[in-house]
Amino acid sequence: MLATTVIAAKRDNQELTDAQLHFLISGYCNDSIPDYQMAAFAMAVYLNGMTPRETAALTREMLDSGTRLQWPNDGIPRVDKHSTGGLGDKTSIVLAPLLAAAGVQVPMLSGRGLGATGGTLDKLESIPGYRTDLNLQEITRITQQTGCVITGASAELAPADRRLYALRDVTATVPSIPLITASILSKKLAESPDALILDVKFGSGAFMKSEETAKQLAESLVHTGSHLGVPVQALLTDMNQPLGRCSGNAVEILECLEVLRGTGPSDVRELTLQLAARLLTAVDHADSLDVALTQLGRLLDDGTALTYYERMVAAQSGDPSARLSVAPAHDVVADTDGFLTTVNAEQIGLTIVEMGGGRRVMSDRIDHSVGIEMLARIGDPVHVGQPLARVFTKLPEVFVSRVRNCLTIGEVAAPRPLITGEIHLD
Ligand code: URA
Repeated sequence: MLATTVIAAKRDNQELTDAQLHFLISGYCNDSIPDYQMAAFAMAVYLNGMTPRETAALTREMLDSGTRLQWPNDGIPRVDKHSTGGLGDKTSIVLAPLLAAAGVQVPMLSGRGLGATGGTLDKLESIPGYRTDLNLQEITRITQQTGCVITGASAELAPADRRLYALRDVTATVPSIPLITASILSKKLAESPDALILDVKFGSGAFMKSEETAKQLAESLVHTGSHLGVPVQALLTDMNQPLGRCSGNAVEILECLEVLRGTGPSDVRELTLQLAARLLTAVDHADSLDVALTQLGRLLDDGTALTYYERMVAAQSGDPSARLSVAPAHDVVADTDGFLTTVNAEQIGLTIVEMGGGRRVMSDRIDHSVGIEMLARIGDPVHVGQPLARVFTKLPEVFVSRVRNCLTIGEVAAPRPLITGEIHLD
């Protein structure tokens, strides 16, 4: 088989066989197919798409490019959640210990910030000592000892995705539904989970700008996961404003601690509960969604989930009682009366990157102390002089007006629903 024949077939919009996809992915991993041929293939997929069968075959090949986590046959369900990324999305950091407290295990492999959206690993690294580079043995041992782990994917898991993602990033081929599906699922299925839930976000602060494309991605993820034998469901959630109040790194950890103490912003609590409850019912750990929601709510309110969080942080060498440093706060105030009508969440995310809270190039070091706290949500009435947001920065003369420009005050605005849809196989 020749790589050029396979690339030409996709270029001409033909459906590739399993053998052709195996040839490409295994050849890419053993260096017999170079980056430039893989880049041409990625562009052909970006332009022509893939059938559901091809997407599943590509995902399987990428999954099989590495090893999978091995679990004992002990009857304990292993579950995980993946978000397609959004501003202020900190649900993983509450959800993993919460589910561990409910008796299931969560071996969560997470990522770093991408573009305007922050990354779970960067947020957790605000905690002094916290390690995100666990090896396979550490991942399985800590998951079994503490019920959960949140770490980066080790090099042995889905190595094809590691290389292909970096290539897509620099060849304008990231926003392709089959390629995103294979990328996300190859990493998540390498955890050998019994059930998976995806939080597919849409809006100004998300990867997918429209609800329609988010729905297509959610459907592709659910169908492909199920095709590969893992029950996968998805929620569609609005990302036209940050989730919760805080976006950044240390400030998001502090907000997670509030939610883990039974307080904190209601949208973070609600979304975490809805995602976690669906996982508990998917593995028959709760009789119904309502039962799961009640049980999980109690585990937040009585401090049990917080105890699991502290155990996870300590097991990953972090200091759960360390004081996290946050840059000085500066208010952004309303200059007119009205309603908060829009928040340019993407620009807010990019402002955090510019403040040092994210990376412009891979080698950048993150300043965990910077961030932005929203004090109003879309649809809230506001009046002149009212603080709309707080910017945690040492350079208020640059960033306060930048954040003000991300917010629009108008005459009318309705609050936006957070969860707008649900995709699952019946
Ligand atoms: N996140 C991933 O892990 N992969 C993609 O392709 C896009 C977002």
